[in-house]
Amino acid sequence: MIVAESADLEKELNPWLAAEIRFDEAAMRLGLDDGTCKILRSPARELTVHIPVMLDDGRLEVFTGYRVMHSIARGPGKGGIRFAPDVTLDEVRALAAWMTWKCAVVNIPFGGAKGGVICDPAVLSDTELERITRRYTAEILEFIGPMSDVPAPDMNTNAQTMAWIMDTYSMHMRHTETAVVTGKPLDLGGSRGRAEATGRGCLIVTLEALRRFGIDPRHASVVIQGFGNVGAMSAKLMSRAGLRVISIIEVDGAVYNPAGLDIEALRSHREETGSILDFPGAENLERDEALYLECQVLVPAARENVITSQNAGKIRAQIVCEGANGPTTAIADSILADRNIFVIPDILANAGGVTVSYFEWVQDRQGFFWNEQLVNGRLEEIMVNSFRDVVAYADAHKVNNRIAAYMLALHRVAFAVKLRGIYA
Ligand code: NAD
Repeated sequence: MIVAESADLEKELNPWLAAEIRFDEAAMRLGLDDGTCKILRSPARELTVHIPVMLDDGRLEVFTGYRVMHSIARGPGKGGIRFAPDVTLDEVRALAAWMTWKCAVVNIPFGGAKGGVICDPAVLSDTELERITRRYTAEILEFIGPMSDVPAPDMNTNAQTMAWIMDTYSMHMRHTETAVVTGKPLDLGGSRGRAEATGRGCLIVTLEALRRFGIDPRHASVVIQGFGNVGAMSAKLMSRAGLRVISIIEVDGAVYNPAGLDIEALRSHREETGSILDFPGAENLERDEALYLECQVLVPAARENVITSQNAGKIRAQIVCEGANGPTTAIADSILADRNIFVIPDILANAGGVTVSYFEWVQDRQGFFWNEQLVNGRLEEIMVNSFRDVVAYADAHKVNNRIAAYMLALHRVAFAVKLRGIYA
């Protein structure tokens, strides 16, 4: 019995199966024909590379990397590259498909792709990471490019990683090609507003959801899981917008202050002490205890599979804004829906990052850069319109927001496939 339950849980947590479940439901509700379903269900290309890299101590190690292109029906593939010890092909596949749907939800002219390298950045030096990045780039060189597949940072990769990829690609091309990656440093063709974009997008859609419920943002309490790029930025921008961020959850525990946390001071505290815990004026809580706090908005912004069949019944938020990719499993989706919890699904909620990546790509290709006000204004317009499109779709088709977002995306991608026809 216990074995069967754990096998079920393993299935529930498999990201590719999770993506398929949502795809199948949206396709069925749209009445998508079998042929188009077959095209969109599987990635267009999956590449596995084994990359030899010399470590600092002279040992030779071979790392495995992936680059999956799910679809280029609406434009070049777009998606991050993650470095982690537990990266799997199924995970990269799911993330690549999510990128196709995410770009379509916000209606930007990109398809979906994703990459990953199995390695543990915590035990690798910067020079080792640079060699892994450059050799991985060399192995996938024919498959990336400004018009074919444009990588970006993801877990454990950053602007520096993108600079190494851009340089390696440019050396092979014999000219500088900034538009091959996004999320670059500002001095190498990066965009203003990119670092904050995902958190800003979360804020924009949260404000829209609060408006829908007639909740004044100043009366909204927020719990955020993860104090990294997305979580810390969401926390900063939400508290600046007047929302009360009452708890932040990190790997080693949570901090809680019902009157609201001072986010800038919490960042400094973590810089000084290495942890968010023991923050003056706040109470330390267990991670789960904080996740189940009563609040208007819960922002899971750490990792996938944190709201599952095991704990969805305990969530006491009115709105869940999915800053992370895949934080809620398919079974948890229906539990949250039954409990009338309003979920802003990942492919909408965290699409601010890829939207400003799109702006970066446009600016690189034009060689003309925008100021931050223009970036933020255009981001807001896209996020607000996309939120309203998804919610209108959900209302019209009587489905939850996630299925609505998938239906909207599938409809757009399927239409592009139909218009292009099949090359034989
Ligand atoms: P990050 O590594 O900067 O931050 C993640 C944070 O979560 C870290 O501080 C980590 O310690 C913490 N964390 C990990 N597991 C946790 C747990 N179980 N409980 C509490 N905290 C935990 O990563 P990020 O860039 O902020 O990305 C977070 C999520 O958002 C990922 O799912 C990523 O795919 C997604 N995402 C990121 C972006 C982006 O622009 N960075 C865009 C879209 C989606």
